[in-house]
Amino acid sequence: MSLTVFAASIMHESHTFNIAPTTLDDFRNADYLDGAAIDGAMRGTRSEWGAVLDLADEFGWHLVHPLAAYAEPAGRVTDHAFDHILGIITRALERAMPVHGVILPLHGAMVTESHDDAEGEILRQVRAIVGLEVPIAVTLDLHANATENMACLADIITTYRTTPHTDTYETAERAGRLLQRAMLGEIKPSVTLAHRPVMSGLDHGRTIAGHGAMVEMLARLREAEAETPGVLDIGVTAGFVWADVPFTGPTVLVTGDEVRPEYRAVAERLADFIWDSRGQETVRLLPMDETISIARKAAPAGSGPLLIGDFTDNPGGGAHGDSTGLVLALLEAGIKGVAVGTIADPDAAAAGLKAGLGAAVTVDLGGKKDPRFGGTPIRLTGTVGAVSDGIYVRKGKYMTGTKANMGPSFRLDLDGMQIVVATHATQIDDREQFRIYGIEPERMNILACKAMNHFRVDFEPIARGLIYVDAGGICSLDFKQFPWSKLRRPIWPLDLN
Ligand SMILES: [Zn+2]
Repeated sequence: MSLTVFAASIMHESHTFNIAPTTLDDFRNADYLDGAAIDGAMRGTRSEWGAVLDLADEFGWHLVHPLAAYAEPAGRVTDHAFDHILGIITRALERAMPVHGVILPLHGAMVTESHDDAEGEILRQVRAIVGLEVPIAVTLDLHANATENMACLADIITTYRTTPHTDTYETAERAGRLLQRAMLGEIKPSVTLAHRPVMSGLDHGRTIAGHGAMVEMLARLREAEAETPGVLDIGVTAGFVWADVPFTGPTVLVTGDEVRPEYRAVAERLADFIWDSRGQETVRLLPMDETISIARKAAPAGSGPLLIGDFTDNPGGGAHGDSTGLVLALLEAGIKGVAVGTIADPDAAAAGLKAGLGAAVTVDLGGKKDPRFGGTPIRLTGTVGAVSDGIYVRKGKYMTGTKANMGPSFRLDLDGMQIVVATHATQIDDREQFRIYGIEPERMNILACKAMNHFRVDFEPIARGLIYVDAGGICSLDFKQFPWSKLRRPIWPLDLN
């Protein structure tokens, strides 16, 4: 007998101090795929959906998968967008009933206008339709702010174990294999959650350096998985800190067979390490003057570009992606051979495209979405060096084969600097984002990237070095500057030492 499995995804990481709400158009401009489109776009990719489709083939599932929706991180999701998307999913689920199991690739840090715990609300509505007996498996990003509500409503929760996130496929594969066992009645899983009064931890989940708090946590959780009878999978989240909700911060999520007191003990023991390792960071943000003095140093020929991560304006963390501080400082320093990816500015992008390839153009670039952070617009005159629809397919080892969309865009050529001016705010995560504008990243002196972690997969191997600058964007690590009102208190580092 073929088992009917329902799968759907709504993914968003919501930066609640970003004043731009995330709308239905933002989902449609990023990823908004129905069942046939999911098959076309996701089959063979190293994504959660790639795994779900492979497992459906392997186990012979009758897969009902009405929608995969994703928007780039930004402000709270509007009620209109959330209700519309969730409505499509729940209506499809009602039509598909009875189902044997559900698998939902979610992010875990989505906040809407009405729901601080949006994933909890998704699970509440899905659970209300399928009832208590149908197993629900969920995958979460490592930067989820997981909640007790999610743990109660789901039977299985797995999380990414790498940052940059190169194990999204494996995360969904683990969830899907457990779901299969649950549907066959071999296991009856439950989830136990533990946390500590910590709002940001586990070195932001970084694993790429091969050391640090997250790497040590993984060693501990693997040991606990192996040693504890009945434990099926242990998830860990590092939290998403720029969210003013009660449950912001790292968590441990133990999925075990049946309900046993050992799972609580394991979860609490691992959560102790969240507390003990607080404040341990493998990355330091540099002030602008130090950044520029490093960027000025001449590089030996063929040593590759210096990577500068514009950490605090990373759209992948919910920032605007239009801050100008780093561009201005590099221009004022007269540093040559610079490529900037990207400045998100729909008006400037339209002006460049209107002027056309090869034409001179003057734009007031960036600094428009929230000029309190990261600099005001800068007037620049240059040449339109390339134009593009901004769509690229990732060729690096991060999310290989998946497509993303920077929107209508052009390359602004200045003396010694090329800036990709794009319509949509998109983090840099793949060299294709430069190549489609005729920029060869390997040949540049400096690559200034709106990025934190994921770009390291494709860029660090070609770079002569990597530094991070604090150019004043809204993904600041100075948490005290934000007006927290819903966060649980007291909490480290705001109140506790
Ligand atoms: Zn993440």
